Amino acid sequence: MKLSFYDLNFADLEAVLKLNNLNTSAASVLFNWHYKKKQTVQCKENIAKTSIDFFQDHYDFSLPEIDTVHESSHDKTVKFLFKLADGHKVETVLIPFHNKYSICLSSQVGCAMNCSFCFTGKQGLHRNLSTSEIVGQLIQAWCWLANNRPGEERILNIVFMGQGEPLHNFDAVKKACEIFLSKHGTSIGIQKITISTAGYIPGLKRWREEIPGVNLALSLHSTLKEKRNELIPINKKYPLTEVLNYIDQIPLQKKQFVTYEYILIKDLNDSADDAKELGELLAGKSAYINLIPFNAFPGSNYQQPEHDKIRQFKKVLDTYKIPTLIRATKGDDVLAACGQLNSKKTIQHSAQY
Ligand code: SAH
Repeated sequence: MKLSFYDLNFADLEAVLKLNNLNTSAASVLFNWHYKKKQTVQCKENIAKTSIDFFQDHYDFSLPEIDTVHESSHDKTVKFLFKLADGHKVETVLIPFHNKYSICLSSQVGCAMNCSFCFTGKQGLHRNLSTSEIVGQLIQAWCWLANNRPGEERILNIVFMGQGEPLHNFDAVKKACEIFLSKHGTSIGIQKITISTAGYIPGLKRWREEIPGVNLALSLHSTLKEKRNELIPINKKYPLTEVLNYIDQIPLQKKQFVTYEYILIKDLNDSADDAKELGELLAGKSAYINLIPFNAFPGSNYQQPEHDKIRQFKKVLDTYKIPTLIRATKGDDVLAACGQLNSKKTIQHSAQY
Protein backbone atom coordinates (compact mmCIF):
# COMPACT_ATOMS: atom_id res chain seq x y z
CA MET A 1 0.00 0.00 0.00
CA LYS A 2 1.19 3.51 -0.78
CA LEU A 3 1.98 5.95 2.01
CA SER A 4 0.03 9.17 2.26
CA PHE A 5 1.97 12.26 1.23
CA TYR A 6 0.07 14.19 3.91
CA ASP A 7 1.65 12.12 6.69
CA LEU A 8 5.01 13.78 6.05
CA ASN A 9 6.13 16.94 7.79
CA PHE A 10 8.73 19.08 6.05
CA ALA A 11 11.69 17.36 7.71
CA ASP A 12 10.28 13.91 6.84
CA LEU A 13 9.86 14.98 3.25
CA GLU A 14 13.41 16.24 2.99
CA ALA A 15 14.64 13.00 4.54
CA VAL A 16 12.65 10.92 2.03
CA LEU A 17 14.10 12.89 -0.85
CA LYS A 18 17.63 12.58 0.46
CA LEU A 19 17.33 8.88 1.16
CA ASN A 20 16.23 8.31 -2.42
CA ASN A 21 18.95 10.51 -3.91
CA LEU A 22 16.45 13.09 -5.12
CA ASN A 23 16.91 16.83 -5.05
CA THR A 24 15.83 18.06 -1.59
CA SER A 25 14.74 21.40 -3.04
CA ALA A 26 11.59 19.58 -4.17
CA ALA A 27 10.40 19.66 -0.54
CA SER A 28 9.56 23.36 -0.59
CA VAL A 29 8.03 23.06 -4.08
CA LEU A 30 5.74 20.29 -2.85
CA PHE A 31 4.77 22.03 0.39
CA ASN A 32 4.01 25.19 -1.53
CA TRP A 33 1.86 23.24 -4.01
CA HIS A 34 -0.13 21.15 -1.55
CA TYR A 35 -0.34 23.38 1.49
CA LYS A 36 -0.07 26.96 0.27
CA LYS A 37 -1.88 26.58 -3.05
CA LYS A 38 -3.95 23.68 -1.67
CA GLN A 39 -3.68 21.73 -4.91
CA THR A 40 -5.15 18.28 -4.45
CA VAL A 41 -3.50 16.50 -7.36
CA GLN A 42 0.12 15.46 -7.53
CA CYS A 43 2.55 18.27 -8.33
CA LYS A 44 4.18 18.00 -11.73
CA GLU A 45 5.54 21.53 -12.03
CA ASN A 46 9.02 22.77 -11.13
CA ILE A 47 10.09 19.33 -10.06
CA ALA A 48 12.38 16.79 -11.73
CA LYS A 49 10.85 13.92 -13.68
CA THR A 50 12.63 11.39 -11.41
CA SER A 51 10.95 12.95 -8.37
CA ILE A 52 7.54 12.99 -10.06
CA ASP A 53 7.92 9.29 -10.87
CA PHE A 54 9.08 8.50 -7.37
CA PHE A 55 6.06 10.15 -5.72
CA GLN A 56 3.71 8.64 -8.25
CA ASP A 57 5.01 5.16 -7.44
CA HIS A 58 5.20 5.44 -3.67
CA TYR A 59 2.81 8.08 -2.42
CA ASP A 60 -0.91 8.55 -2.31
CA PHE A 61 -2.39 12.03 -2.64
CA SER A 62 -6.01 11.25 -1.89
CA LEU A 63 -7.81 13.12 0.88
CA PRO A 64 -10.73 12.30 3.15
CA GLU A 65 -13.82 12.41 1.01
CA ILE A 66 -16.55 14.94 1.79
CA ASP A 67 -19.61 12.82 2.51
CA THR A 68 -22.09 15.54 3.49
CA VAL A 69 -21.99 19.29 3.99
CA HIS A 70 -24.42 21.06 6.28
CA GLU A 71 -24.62 24.82 6.03
CA SER A 72 -26.27 26.55 8.95
CA SER A 73 -29.21 28.77 8.08
CA HIS A 74 -28.57 30.95 11.19
CA ASP A 75 -24.98 31.87 10.46
CA LYS A 76 -22.13 30.89 8.17
CA THR A 77 -21.14 27.76 10.06
CA VAL A 78 -20.42 24.76 7.86
CA LYS A 79 -20.22 21.23 9.11
CA PHE A 80 -18.54 18.56 7.03
CA LEU A 81 -18.92 14.88 7.44
CA PHE A 82 -15.84 13.19 6.04
CA LYS A 83 -15.65 9.63 4.92
CA LEU A 84 -12.27 8.03 5.59
CA ALA A 85 -10.69 5.31 3.49
CA ASP A 86 -11.87 2.56 5.87
CA GLY A 87 -15.45 3.87 5.88
CA HIS A 88 -15.30 5.58 9.29
CA LYS A 89 -16.69 9.08 9.41
CA VAL A 90 -15.55 12.19 11.26
CA GLU A 91 -16.75 15.75 11.43
CA THR A 92 -15.10 19.09 10.95
CA VAL A 93 -16.65 22.50 11.49
CA LEU A 94 -15.88 25.86 9.96
CA ILE A 95 -16.85 28.59 12.38
CA PRO A 96 -17.21 32.09 10.93
CA PHE A 97 -15.88 35.26 12.46
CA HIS A 98 -15.57 38.54 10.53
CA ASN A 99 -15.51 36.90 7.09
CA LYS A 100 -12.77 34.56 8.19
CA TYR A 101 -13.06 31.13 9.63
CA SER A 102 -11.79 29.06 12.50
CA ILE A 103 -11.64 25.38 11.82
CA CYS A 104 -12.56 22.86 14.45
CA LEU A 105 -10.72 19.63 13.70
CA SER A 106 -11.35 16.09 14.84
CA SER A 107 -8.44 14.03 16.10
CA GLN A 108 -10.07 10.64 16.68
CA VAL A 109 -12.99 8.59 15.44
CA GLY A 110 -15.11 8.78 18.59
CA CYS A 111 -13.45 9.41 21.94
CA ALA A 112 -12.35 7.39 24.96
CA MET A 113 -12.99 10.12 27.53
CA ASN A 114 -16.72 9.36 27.87
CA CYS A 115 -17.66 12.79 29.26
CA SER A 116 -21.27 12.73 30.42
CA PHE A 117 -22.30 15.89 28.54
CA CYS A 118 -20.63 15.12 25.21
CA PHE A 119 -22.29 13.54 22.21
CA THR A 120 -19.01 12.32 20.72
CA GLY A 121 -18.13 10.40 23.90
CA LYS A 122 -21.32 8.38 23.57
CA GLN A 123 -19.88 6.44 20.63
CA GLY A 124 -16.65 5.38 22.44
CA LEU A 125 -13.24 5.37 20.77
CA HIS A 126 -12.98 3.61 17.44
CA ARG A 127 -9.51 4.69 16.39
CA ASN A 128 -6.99 7.50 16.15
CA LEU A 129 -6.86 9.65 13.04
CA SER A 130 -3.62 9.70 11.09
CA THR A 131 -1.83 12.99 10.40
CA SER A 132 -3.04 12.89 6.80
CA GLU A 133 -6.65 12.52 7.97
CA ILE A 134 -6.24 15.55 10.24
CA VAL A 135 -4.43 17.71 7.69
CA GLY A 136 -6.88 16.52 5.01
CA GLN A 137 -9.84 17.99 6.93
CA LEU A 138 -8.32 21.46 6.59
CA ILE A 139 -7.35 21.13 2.94
CA GLN A 140 -10.78 19.86 1.96
CA ALA A 141 -12.62 22.52 3.98
CA TRP A 142 -10.41 25.21 2.39
CA CYS A 143 -11.12 23.87 -1.11
CA TRP A 144 -14.85 23.75 -0.35
CA LEU A 145 -14.73 27.44 0.61
CA ALA A 146 -12.74 28.29 -2.53
CA ASN A 147 -15.39 26.57 -4.66
CA ASN A 148 -18.53 27.57 -2.80
CA ARG A 149 -17.69 30.88 -1.16
CA PRO A 150 -14.92 32.23 -3.38
CA GLY A 151 -12.82 34.90 -1.72
CA GLU A 152 -13.71 33.55 1.71
CA GLU A 153 -11.11 30.78 1.81
CA ARG A 154 -9.39 32.22 4.84
CA ILE A 155 -8.93 29.83 7.71
CA LEU A 156 -7.03 31.74 10.34
CA ASN A 157 -7.44 29.68 13.49
CA ILE A 158 -7.21 25.99 14.11
CA VAL A 159 -8.79 24.45 17.17
CA PHE A 160 -8.62 20.80 18.10
CA MET A 161 -12.07 20.80 19.64
CA GLY A 162 -13.86 18.41 17.33
CA GLN A 163 -14.26 14.73 17.94
CA GLY A 164 -11.66 13.06 20.11
CA GLU A 165 -9.12 13.89 22.75
CA PRO A 166 -6.18 15.37 20.81
CA LEU A 167 -3.62 14.70 23.54
CA HIS A 168 -4.63 11.05 23.43
CA ASN A 169 -3.44 10.94 19.81
CA PHE A 170 -0.39 13.07 20.36
CA ASP A 171 1.95 11.89 17.59
CA ALA A 172 -0.50 12.45 14.76
CA VAL A 173 -1.73 15.77 16.17
CA LYS A 174 1.80 17.04 16.69
CA LYS A 175 2.81 16.21 13.16
CA ALA A 176 -0.33 17.88 11.80
CA CYS A 177 0.60 21.02 13.79
CA GLU A 178 4.11 20.90 12.34
CA ILE A 179 2.67 20.77 8.85
CA PHE A 180 0.30 23.69 9.54
CA LEU A 181 3.17 25.72 11.03
CA SER A 182 5.64 25.12 8.21
CA LYS A 183 6.64 28.37 6.55
CA HIS A 184 6.80 26.48 3.25
CA GLY A 185 3.10 25.66 3.42
CA THR A 186 0.04 27.00 5.24
CA SER A 187 2.39 28.97 7.52
CA ILE A 188 -0.13 29.38 10.30
CA GLY A 189 1.16 31.25 13.36
CA ILE A 190 1.76 29.05 16.39
CA GLN A 191 -0.50 31.24 18.53
CA LYS A 192 -3.35 30.49 16.10
CA ILE A 193 -3.49 26.82 17.01
CA THR A 194 -5.25 25.59 20.14
CA ILE A 195 -5.40 22.08 21.50
CA SER A 196 -8.23 21.36 23.89
CA THR A 197 -7.89 18.60 26.46
CA ALA A 198 -10.04 17.01 29.12
CA GLY A 199 -6.85 16.90 31.24
CA TYR A 200 -4.96 13.88 29.96
CA ILE A 201 -1.68 14.30 31.85
CA PRO A 202 0.58 12.01 29.75
CA GLY A 203 -0.37 14.09 26.70
CA LEU A 204 0.10 17.36 28.62
CA LYS A 205 3.63 16.31 29.44
CA ARG A 206 4.40 15.73 25.81
CA TRP A 207 2.72 19.00 24.81
CA ARG A 208 4.95 20.85 27.26
CA GLU A 209 8.13 19.21 26.02
CA GLU A 210 7.40 19.08 22.33
CA ILE A 211 4.98 21.83 21.24
CA PRO A 212 4.66 24.30 24.13
CA GLY A 213 4.02 27.27 21.81
CA VAL A 214 0.74 25.75 20.64
CA ASN A 215 -2.07 27.11 22.84
CA LEU A 216 -3.71 24.92 25.38
CA ALA A 217 -7.33 24.82 26.44
CA LEU A 218 -8.42 22.79 29.45
CA SER A 219 -11.98 21.59 29.80
CA LEU A 220 -12.55 22.38 33.46
CA HIS A 221 -16.34 22.36 33.93
CA SER A 222 -16.32 22.01 37.73
CA THR A 223 -13.92 22.84 40.52
CA LEU A 224 -15.48 20.15 42.71
CA LYS A 225 -13.98 16.68 42.66
CA GLU A 226 -17.21 14.68 42.77
CA LYS A 227 -18.91 16.76 40.12
CA ARG A 228 -15.91 16.78 37.82
CA ASN A 229 -15.63 13.00 38.25
CA GLU A 230 -19.19 12.72 37.02
CA LEU A 231 -18.71 15.09 34.11
CA ILE A 232 -15.22 14.03 33.01
CA PRO A 233 -14.48 10.48 34.19
CA ILE A 234 -10.70 10.72 33.59
CA ASN A 235 -10.70 13.19 36.49
CA LYS A 236 -10.60 10.07 38.68
CA LYS A 237 -7.28 9.09 37.16
CA TYR A 238 -5.88 12.57 36.59
CA PRO A 239 -7.53 14.87 39.14
CA LEU A 240 -7.96 18.55 38.41
CA THR A 241 -5.53 19.63 41.18
CA GLU A 242 -2.75 17.59 39.55
CA VAL A 243 -3.62 18.87 36.09
CA LEU A 244 -3.61 22.49 37.27
CA ASN A 245 -0.36 22.02 39.19
CA TYR A 246 1.15 20.67 36.06
CA ILE A 247 -0.12 23.48 33.87
CA ASP A 248 1.04 26.09 36.40
CA GLN A 249 4.62 24.89 36.03
CA ILE A 250 4.59 25.39 32.29
CA PRO A 251 6.51 28.50 31.30
CA LEU A 252 4.14 30.35 29.00
CA GLN A 253 5.37 32.71 26.36
CA LYS A 254 4.58 36.42 26.51
CA LYS A 255 0.89 37.04 25.88
CA GLN A 256 0.21 33.29 25.97
CA PHE A 257 -2.84 32.27 27.97
CA VAL A 258 -4.28 28.96 28.95
CA THR A 259 -7.95 28.86 28.04
CA TYR A 260 -10.20 27.25 30.61
CA GLU A 261 -13.42 25.99 29.13
CA TYR A 262 -16.38 25.82 31.43
CA ILE A 263 -19.55 24.28 30.15
CA LEU A 264 -22.60 25.71 31.94
CA ILE A 265 -25.25 23.16 32.80
CA LYS A 266 -28.51 24.18 34.44
CA ASP A 267 -28.60 23.52 38.21
CA LEU A 268 -25.42 21.49 38.06
CA ASN A 269 -22.47 23.90 37.91
CA ASP A 270 -24.04 27.30 37.20
CA SER A 271 -24.56 28.84 40.66
CA ALA A 272 -22.91 32.00 41.97
CA ASP A 273 -20.94 29.78 44.38
CA ASP A 274 -19.65 27.71 41.46
CA ALA A 275 -18.53 30.93 39.79
CA LYS A 276 -16.78 32.10 42.98
CA GLU A 277 -14.93 28.81 43.31
CA LEU A 278 -13.85 29.03 39.71
CA GLY A 279 -12.72 32.64 40.11
CA GLU A 280 -10.71 31.78 43.21
CA LEU A 281 -9.10 28.82 41.52
CA LEU A 282 -7.99 30.76 38.45
CA ALA A 283 -7.35 34.28 39.84
CA GLY A 284 -3.79 35.38 39.20
CA LYS A 285 -3.13 32.82 36.47
CA SER A 286 -2.57 33.66 32.79
CA ALA A 287 -6.08 32.48 32.24
CA TYR A 288 -8.83 33.11 29.82
CA ILE A 289 -12.24 31.61 30.53
CA ASN A 290 -14.59 30.40 27.85
CA LEU A 291 -18.07 29.84 29.17
CA ILE A 292 -19.88 27.37 26.96
CA PRO A 293 -23.63 27.09 27.50
CA PHE A 294 -24.44 23.39 27.33
CA ASN A 295 -25.62 22.37 23.88
CA ALA A 296 -28.31 19.78 23.94
CA PHE A 297 -28.18 16.73 21.70
CA PRO A 298 -30.68 13.94 21.13
CA GLY A 299 -31.02 11.94 24.33
CA SER A 300 -29.09 14.33 26.59
CA ASN A 301 -30.34 14.82 30.15
CA TYR A 302 -28.74 18.16 30.89
CA GLN A 303 -30.12 21.59 30.09
CA GLN A 304 -28.74 24.96 29.25
CA PRO A 305 -29.13 27.63 31.97
CA GLU A 306 -31.26 30.71 31.33
CA HIS A 307 -29.44 33.56 29.69
CA ASP A 308 -29.60 35.69 32.84
CA LYS A 309 -27.96 32.98 34.89
CA ILE A 310 -25.13 32.77 32.38
CA ARG A 311 -24.61 36.53 32.55
CA GLN A 312 -24.61 36.46 36.35
CA PHE A 313 -21.98 33.73 36.29
CA LYS A 314 -19.78 35.90 34.12
CA LYS A 315 -20.35 38.93 36.39
CA VAL A 316 -18.95 37.01 39.35
CA LEU A 317 -15.88 36.04 37.32
CA ASP A 318 -15.40 39.67 36.26
CA THR A 319 -14.81 40.57 39.92
CA TYR A 320 -11.74 38.32 39.78
CA LYS A 321 -10.46 40.23 36.76
CA ILE A 322 -10.20 37.12 34.63
CA PRO A 323 -11.02 37.74 30.96
CA THR A 324 -14.16 35.73 30.31
CA LEU A 325 -16.05 35.14 27.14
CA ILE A 326 -19.48 33.60 26.78
CA ARG A 327 -19.07 31.50 23.71
CA ALA A 328 -21.85 32.17 21.24
CA THR A 329 -23.52 29.01 20.08
CA LYS A 330 -22.95 28.77 16.37
CA GLY A 331 -24.24 26.22 13.97
CA ASP A 332 -26.56 24.58 16.50
CA ASP A 333 -29.17 24.05 13.81
CA VAL A 334 -26.80 21.62 12.10
CA LEU A 335 -25.61 20.01 15.35
CA ALA A 336 -22.21 21.58 14.79
CA ALA A 337 -21.87 23.30 18.13
CA CYS A 338 -19.50 22.04 20.83
CA GLY A 339 -20.24 18.53 21.94
CA GLN A 340 -22.85 17.92 19.30
CA LEU A 341 -20.51 16.07 16.99
CA ASN A 342 -21.29 12.44 16.61
CA SER A 343 -20.62 11.11 13.16
CA LYS A 344 -22.80 8.06 13.63
CA LYS A 345 -25.89 10.11 14.36
CA THR A 346 -25.36 13.02 12.03
CA ILE A 347 -27.12 11.78 8.97
CA GLN A 348 -30.12 10.65 10.89
CA HIS A 349 -30.56 13.94 12.77
CA SER A 350 -29.53 16.31 10.06
CA ALA A 351 -32.47 15.03 8.07
CA GLN A 352 -34.62 17.23 10.30
CA TYR A 353 -33.02 20.41 9.03
N1 SAH B 1 -11.49 16.21 24.21
C1 SAH B 1 -11.21 17.61 24.17
C2 SAH B 1 -11.70 18.33 22.94
C3 SAH B 1 -13.10 18.07 22.45
S1 SAH B 1 -14.47 18.91 23.11
C4 SAH B 1 -11.67 18.27 25.45
O1 SAH B 1 -12.29 17.61 26.27
O2 SAH B 1 -11.38 19.43 25.66
C5 SAH B 1 -14.27 20.60 22.89
C6 SAH B 1 -15.07 21.40 23.94
O3 SAH B 1 -16.48 21.21 23.81
C7 SAH B 1 -14.73 20.97 25.35
O4 SAH B 1 -14.55 22.04 26.24
C8 SAH B 1 -15.93 20.15 25.71
O5 SAH B 1 -16.01 20.00 27.08
C9 SAH B 1 -17.04 20.96 25.07
N2 SAH B 1 -18.30 20.23 24.95
C10 SAH B 1 -18.47 18.92 24.79
N3 SAH B 1 -19.79 18.60 24.76
C11 SAH B 1 -20.47 19.76 24.90
C12 SAH B 1 -21.87 20.09 24.90
N4 SAH B 1 -22.82 19.17 24.77
N5 SAH B 1 -22.19 21.39 25.04
C13 SAH B 1 -21.24 22.33 25.13
N6 SAH B 1 -19.92 22.08 25.14
C14 SAH B 1 -19.53 20.80 25.02
